[in-house]
Amino acid sequence: ASERLYLGMDFGTSGARYALIDKQGTIHAEGKREYPQYMKEDSMDWGRSWKTTLFSLLEDVPVRLRPLVASISLDGTSATTLIIDGNTGELLARPYLYNESCPDALPVVKSIAPINHTVCSSSSTLCKLASWWNNDNSDKKSTLLLHQADWLLWLLHGQLGVSDYNNALKVGYDPEVDSYPDWLLSQPYARLLPMVKAPGASIGHLKGDIRTKFSFSEDCIVCTGTTDSIAAFLAARATQPGKAVTSLGSTLAIKLLSTTRIEDARYGVYSHRLNDKWLVGGASNTGGAVLKEIFTDEQLEKLSEHINPMEASRLDYYPLKSVGERFPVADPNMEPRLHPRPESDVEYLHGILESIARIEAKAYILLKDLGATQVDEVFTAGGGSKNDKWIKIRERVLGLPVSRATQTEAAYGAALLALKGAQ
Ligand code: ADP
Repeated sequence: ASERLYLGMDFGTSGARYALIDKQGTIHAEGKREYPQYMKEDSMDWGRSWKTTLFSLLEDVPVRLRPLVASISLDGTSATTLIIDGNTGELLARPYLYNESCPDALPVVKSIAPINHTVCSSSSTLCKLASWWNNDNSDKKSTLLLHQADWLLWLLHGQLGVSDYNNALKVGYDPEVDSYPDWLLSQPYARLLPMVKAPGASIGHLKGDIRTKFSFSEDCIVCTGTTDSIAAFLAARATQPGKAVTSLGSTLAIKLLSTTRIEDARYGVYSHRLNDKWLVGGASNTGGAVLKEIFTDEQLEKLSEHINPMEASRLDYYPLKSVGERFPVADPNMEPRLHPRPESDVEYLHGILESIARIEAKAYILLKDLGATQVDEVFTAGGGSKNDKWIKIRERVLGLPVSRATQTEAAYGAALLALKGAQ
């Protein structure tokens, strides 16, 4: 028999990708699709766009490999919320996107949730649900809440009302006791909440019509998914406590695998459950966006060549695009600090890269102080990860081994979840 393969899909902010892997993690096929721009009335018809993209990705999987697919999973953007008809699965309202804010519902959510709970942010899934509940006048008899990933997976397996505890965190699910808390269950909209499984758990077989149309195998199963940033962490295969991934994109985000759960709303630090461990995360406002304002990507590459990473820069900056920092310093009034600018651009860039590395070091120290497992190795993702000099600077400043993650695509992480679910 031919080797079985595992299909993961990522529905990110700007487009969707797929990755098809074997059980060793080798990629057999991968691909990417932009979201088609469908309009409905005056706004984007996201539901139709995502659905079309899902089936486009299935079509992109090479025909000869499709019968080998043992399982499928996918991730979506966190807190992207859909209100659907519990009988037909049709969207009853325009999807609430991950970054959409429902400040109207924040006071009521704050009044029911524990202080500083993750749901107490106007873009949380719960604020979106409460806002819809309070503003929509339609008959709400058979309605359901699903996250983007849940809904797209439903299109594949056909059982309505299933989610995972990563996606469900921002609606208020408690992953530690594995249930919705009482303060949430006592709300009138509690019956809209989906049932929750672990990420990468088998839900059921791929629907027969899809299976036949695309010639997937009869035993192909569909598994619960996760959020896009968790899938990207999973891709790096940092499976031991103390392993971390720093993402150096437009902003600096860190994720650390910990045996303990930590939360601190002041710093925007919270933990996602990953089986018997916790994925602790925090995001700074510093990062590549500042570099991009000063240097082009070509300049970054050229100037970096001349940096001696073993030499400590005396320049001490706090690179921010605008006023305000959250993590590892909670200060909404913090001013960007990028002066004095030396004559040499090499020195300037060195100072900025090293200053960002110091912020990264401070971030890991803060997580430890808040009670997380101490970091012992850092993998790197994002646009800044291709800078080898920066990696050397960070190794010196962090005092830890730092390397580029081999895999950073969320679709690859979703494929690993499919693999998990098939075992
Ligand atoms: P996003 O978070 O927007 O997805 P990316 O992961 O694509 O970001 O990373 C883009 C960032 O990487 C840019 O802000 C850019 O300044 C930075 N970058 C690109 N090339 C380099 C380089 N050689 N060294 C350091 N940073 C770089």
